[in-house]
Amino acid sequence: MAELTEAKKNTHIKKLENITGKDNILYDYDSCYAYSTDSTNIIKDNEIADIVIFPENTEQVSKIMKYANENNIPVTARAAGTSVCGACLPKKGGIVLDFAKMNKIIEVNKDNLICIAEPGVVIEDLKKAAEKYNLFYPPDPSNLKVSMLGGSIGLSSGGPHTFKYGSTKDYIIDLEVVLADGTILHTGSSCSKDVTGYNMTQLFVGSEGTLGIITRATIRLIPKPEDTRVLLAYFDTLEDTAKTANDIISNLITPSVIDLLDKNTLATTESFYPSGLLTDKTAALLIEIDGFKSTLDNQYEKIIEICKNNNSSYIQTAKTKEEEEKIWITRRSSFGATAKLAPNVLTEDVVVPRDNIVTLVKGIWNICSKYNLKTCIMGHIGDGNIHPNIALDLRNTEERKNFEKAKAELFELALSLNGRLSGEHGIGCEKSYFINKALDPNNLKLMKQIKNMLDPKNILNPEKIF
Ligand SMILES: Cc1cc2nc3c(=O)[nH]c(=O)nc-3n(C[C@H](O)[C@H](O)[C@H](O)COP(=O)(O)OP(=O)(O)OC[C@H]3O[C@@H](n4cnc5c(N)ncnc54)[C@H](O)[C@@H]3O)c2cc1C
Repeated sequence: MAELTEAKKNTHIKKLENITGKDNILYDYDSCYAYSTDSTNIIKDNEIADIVIFPENTEQVSKIMKYANENNIPVTARAAGTSVCGACLPKKGGIVLDFAKMNKIIEVNKDNLICIAEPGVVIEDLKKAAEKYNLFYPPDPSNLKVSMLGGSIGLSSGGPHTFKYGSTKDYIIDLEVVLADGTILHTGSSCSKDVTGYNMTQLFVGSEGTLGIITRATIRLIPKPEDTRVLLAYFDTLEDTAKTANDIISNLITPSVIDLLDKNTLATTESFYPSGLLTDKTAALLIEIDGFKSTLDNQYEKIIEICKNNNSSYIQTAKTKEEEEKIWITRRSSFGATAKLAPNVLTEDVVVPRDNIVTLVKGIWNICSKYNLKTCIMGHIGDGNIHPNIALDLRNTEERKNFEKAKAELFELALSLNGRLSGEHGIGCEKSYFINKALDPNNLKLMKQIKNMLDPKNILNPEKIF
């Protein structure tokens, strides 16, 4: 749409204002710029939205899509815009659909264990709505205070609880979707079991807004665990750290969180948010267990014993909820601390089978030191999902080139270890150049055919995934 004449653009704006009203449309350059970014901070002058629209209901979304399709206008759905892989960047300009005004929790049904909600609902609000009924929505993209349902479904977000509870894809049972031509469809049902035809719901989960626009979701909830216990255990070697995770699991304990923080993460977090973290250790494991209060003490003691047997040099236990929260704050501050090292932080998200995790983490240390990049590694060790957070200055051409080289080597490494490019952040436009290497060619061909069938004019979030 960027190459359109002003007159043509004004015609589009008038037509779209007729659908949503003038108050729901922005088209001045500064606003369009602001809605054309995400957490990567990578923005190009010719990749700015032309119009930002805030629809209020599904009918409006359907009319917008019909108009956009007839006029070949690209449409990029946007939730909170926190994607770390360029998933919500309007690469071809056009319309950004922002769901801030479709943010209602329509129903929590405690008997059917479901919640029905609109895409603009913030994940923390969804969790709180469930908790009122003693129910639990486990996915937590770590930035749950801002991240929204539509974006979380668009990327099938995971977070620390995935090892025990699964990620977003495991909780979405029905979607209302608006297709590229404006058609509205429902993909599933409110039933907890349903094999009535293909699993169309899962086709749209994680599709990064490239196949349709989600306007409503039915979400499965589970009973809320009664209580939690948390600890932080330090290790001098990665081998001991990984063996501890394996031993906990082989002792029949399923932690609700088992996250890794590497030496750089510990040192960086402690230097910006001092809380007494040990900075001379190779790694630490943040371990949380949950369940009935009466079952937790035994498991907690067993975990401490396993950590000690694997040479844990110090274990920070939490006796109160305040002490638990202190450990959690450390984990949550780690990204913010990394962000203080340089103007930009780019986060990767490779995943490998768990028995390759030590090789992966050591390989990442080597790659980043070879290219002189400051890197703090965090990860969900239970899932084999590792996040190297690389702090750099994107204005520095050499650092940027080094980052690109390191990224390519990181992907090669993950693939050589039977891994994948993303465990929970998606592909967006930042990893799409590598997708040919990561997917079976016949599978990739089929994906492109599906995209072409649902969106033959390629107006939905173009230049993402492949
Ligand atoms: C500090 C930080 C920590 C993070 N930690 C984690 C983590 O631990 N785990 C994790 O999984 N992720 C994590 N993320 C990544 C990211 O924030 C999550 O993936 C998040 O869920 C994205 O939500 P959002 O609302 O910002 O979506 P956006 O970035 O706005 O959109 C994400 C994708 O969804 C699409 N989309 C948005 N709305 C719709 C819709 N209505 N219909 C169709 N498609 C739509 C967009 O087009 C885009 O492709 C983190 C990010 C940051 C910045």
